[in-house]
Amino acid sequence: MARKFHKPIRTCIVCRGKFTQSELVRLQCQERQLISFTSQGRSFYICKECTNDEKKCAKSLARVCKSGELGKLMYKLREIIIDGR
Ligand SMILES: [Zn+2]
Repeated sequence: MARKFHKPIRTCIVCRGKFTQSELVRLQCQERQLISFTSQGRSFYICKECTNDEKKCAKSLARVCKSGELGKLMYKLREIIIDGR
């Protein structure tokens, strides 16, 4: 039996689905604002499919970042995704 290369599996905070890291966007909250992961502190993941579902995504982000500014959070999310390409 061939050994499979181990890929770390992470959970999307929006849909709770399990994905490999390449299918996810890694994010972080700093002072209630969304930023891309800085390699320090706590981070979380959102799958690429959920990033297209603004309503669901905004709700989860608001919860994680403890921010009510949904528009601002979604704007930052778009920025981070575009930058990461
Ligand atoms: Zn998801």
